[in-house]
Amino acid sequence: MLRHPRKNARALRFKPPEKFETLEVAKKRRQKCIAHLMALTNNEKAQVPATKLLSCRKSARCRSGACPVCMRLYRLRWIKECCKLLAQLGDVYRVSMILDHASLEPDSLHLLDLPKFLEAQQTAINRALPDDLKVIIIGGIDISLNTLENGDAHWCPHLYLLIASASGQGLSKDVLDDSLKPMARRSSASRPYMSTLVKQHGLGKPPCPGLIPLPLSPEEVLAKVVSYALKAAFVHRSGYGYIRRLSNEQSHNTRPQSLRGPSLTEALLFMGQHGPGKRVLLRGVRRFGRPERFVLRLGRRLKA
Ligand SMILES: [Zn+2]
Repeated sequence: MLRHPRKNARALRFKPPEKFETLEVAKKRRQKCIAHLMALTNNEKAQVPATKLLSCRKSARCRSGACPVCMRLYRLRWIKECCKLLAQLGDVYRVSMILDHASLEPDSLHLLDLPKFLEAQQTAINRALPDDLKVIIIGGIDISLNTLENGDAHWCPHLYLLIASASGQGLSKDVLDDSLKPMARRSSASRPYMSTLVKQHGLGKPPCPGLIPLPLSPEEVLAKVVSYALKAAFVHRSGYGYIRRLSNEQSHNTRPQSLRGPSLTEALLFMGQHGPGKRVLLRGVRRFGRPERFVLRLGRRLKA
């Protein structure tokens, strides 16, 4: 069936961010995950996601959050749909928050009830923002295993949100910081809260200093930033020493590394319990359709 030419043009304009993982890389990662889980012959629980990932085919995707191929497909769709939606709106801010009192000890990731946790964060954000502020939020939760300054390792939930004003008014960095900063961990060392304007009304020049090396078009900046909101996998973040960022904030000089050994097992078992889209947080936006072809639409209350 022929597609509408305008739809074709829209599809062609979409480009995943630079260095976005290729299908080949995702397939290799899937193979490594399967090998890691299958080697744990004494761990019956590990065999469940291993079998699922092994069954993943182009004609029948496994739709496991632990599957790098299914996550890649979901993220491609996610970036495309989010960019389309955000391009229609005014200023867009990104907010990154390490949540207060939300750390988990190693071996206890399974205790985190992800849907309930995200619902609680959603409620807290709704309460924190001014009542009359009409905003949409597109975001996700990332959980990294952090070890800073040789301290004890812990799982650290981290929200990454893109916030745009639906009415085109009332949203500013000051409003966001005053409302949301109290939700973040009270520590100056690990940059627990950060907000930046990433798109100005009408896709003007991209601000975001220090985040992405310029020159990138505003669309490319948006795609890159949206891709951060839903990470491909959990990582280990270790950090030594401090750096001063362009924003003049001091923070740990962290470096992401792939998870290994028991931490990788724990992360795969956790991610395997949830589909690729279950780490997403949405406010004022509705999601329709199956994971590989879903669409995002503005909520009814927010349409002009
Ligand atoms: Zn899969």
